[in-house]
Amino acid sequence: MILFISDLHLSFDKPKITRHFVHFLRTKARQASAVYILGDLFDAWVGDDDFTAPNAQIRRELKQLTDSGVAVYLQRGNRDFLIGERFARGTGVILLDDYAVIELEGEQTLLTHGDLLCSDDVAYQAFRAKSRSFQWQQNVLSKPLWLRLCAARWYRIRSFFHKQKKSDYIMDVNQTTVEMLMQQHECTRLIHGHTHRPAKHEFMLNGKKVARFVLPDWRNDGGAVLSFEDKNE
Ligand code: MN
Repeated sequence: MILFISDLHLSFDKPKITRHFVHFLRTKARQASAVYILGDLFDAWVGDDDFTAPNAQIRRELKQLTDSGVAVYLQRGNRDFLIGERFARGTGVILLDDYAVIELEGEQTLLTHGDLLCSDDVAYQAFRAKSRSFQWQQNVLSKPLWLRLCAARWYRIRSFFHKQKKSDYIMDVNQTTVEMLMQQHECTRLIHGHTHRPAKHEFMLNGKKVARFVLPDWRNDGGAVLSFEDKNE
């Protein structure tokens, strides 16, 4: 069994979602051969040196899962893109690049968080490009932890109001970008999160029927998991 989740947006003020996730790690995830977390596991990530709640607990639980023999892969989202090697070493998770290709049920499948698919949001893409540079990240990570935590809270509030101003159209994926990326990576399937618009979209690409799976975000009443059978089992 191969499991996919994304957009849990774990944070200190949403303890219910943390509980759902811990329960998932101790039960369903244990039965899987691999778990893929496709970004925004955390609502904010200010650096691998931050062990404030619920980070320390989540790290422990992830470590127990990987120690039990389950492979856990993690892509960084737009909220937790500062997750780094220290986090990976401490938890045993394997960090993936922004685009990863795996074979799933015999189909080449592209995995990505989803923010790169929203190419109509030009302002965001400009910020994204800037914030992925080594220099930008070094500059942020060199600030004291308390300052980064304050800044993260401020950005969360700001982002909430920004999102309300942006149109639905801009906040969704661009179909041309989706098709271009699937062709580039020679994939017939795409799995992503980020938009919080769960669906399975089927369409034709080069005369072939292809599919785009969109993962839901996790809520107080529970989390959704996309599951595939593992042919090797
Ligand atoms: Mn996201």
